[in-house]
Amino acid sequence: MDPTVWQYQFRVIMLGDSTVGKSSLLKRYTENQYLDSINETVGVDFYVHFLEMEPGVRVKLQFWDTAGQERFRSVTRSYYRNSVGALLVFDLTNQASFDHIRECHAEVCERVQPYKVLFVLVGHKCDMDAHKERAVSREEAEKLALLLGVPYVEASAKTGQNVKAAFELLARGVYLGLMNGEVELQEGWDGVKCAAPLTLQAHNTSPGQPVSARKSKKCCD
Ligand code: GDP
Ligand code: MG
Repeated sequence: MDPTVWQYQFRVIMLGDSTVGKSSLLKRYTENQYLDSINETVGVDFYVHFLEMEPGVRVKLQFWDTAGQERFRSVTRSYYRNSVGALLVFDLTNQASFDHIRECHAEVCERVQPYKVLFVLVGHKCDMDAHKERAVSREEAEKLALLLGVPYVEASAKTGQNVKAAFELLARGVYLGLMNGEVELQEGWDGVKCAAPLTLQAHNTSPGQPVSARKSKKCCD
């Protein structure tokens, strides 16, 4: 199958203070690269990654990488509404970046109404554990994740640890939500897009039969 053919597109936004490593996480996930001196994000950058959810179902993940600086806040906010997923990133060695997570989560939830955004909380730069520079304990972070009702992952763009796991936990959560009706395709909303019905027929398990109710409901009506 052509690796750029997709059945669904999910838009995912990266959130968190500047320098927590949002761009580095994306670079590691989409290009398997890590740069010690990565350029500061100005406004919003885009990254793309294709992920096979199940045989024959490929999702195009479109990432919006935002600048954490206050002066770009209004730009960032304008992207919340058309995202289905968000990686909430803080730096495990930076207490303030952790303290800002609750506020950021609340703001996104409020602004995306009536749509829903799925989150994964990422405690980033876990490679710094080796240098004993941790400021936020795993217990504290897990407590916050529980409070927000979101999964928690500790990752490092530098070593690559759990980077794939964090992104794919989010993507699979969205896919599952789409299949069970928690996430719905809606007119005028770009969080999830669906390819033409014809493409879906290609992975219907019974050739000649109509596309399954599950898929036709979510995608082709
Ligand atoms: P952003 O502003 O959130 O996009 O953060 P960047 O990706 O630009 O990274 C900010 C700084 O943190 C850069 O100097 C990176 O080299 C460094 N950095 C990013 N990821 C990691 C990591 O996993 N471990 C460590 N130790 N440093 C990292
Ligand atoms: Mg950046």
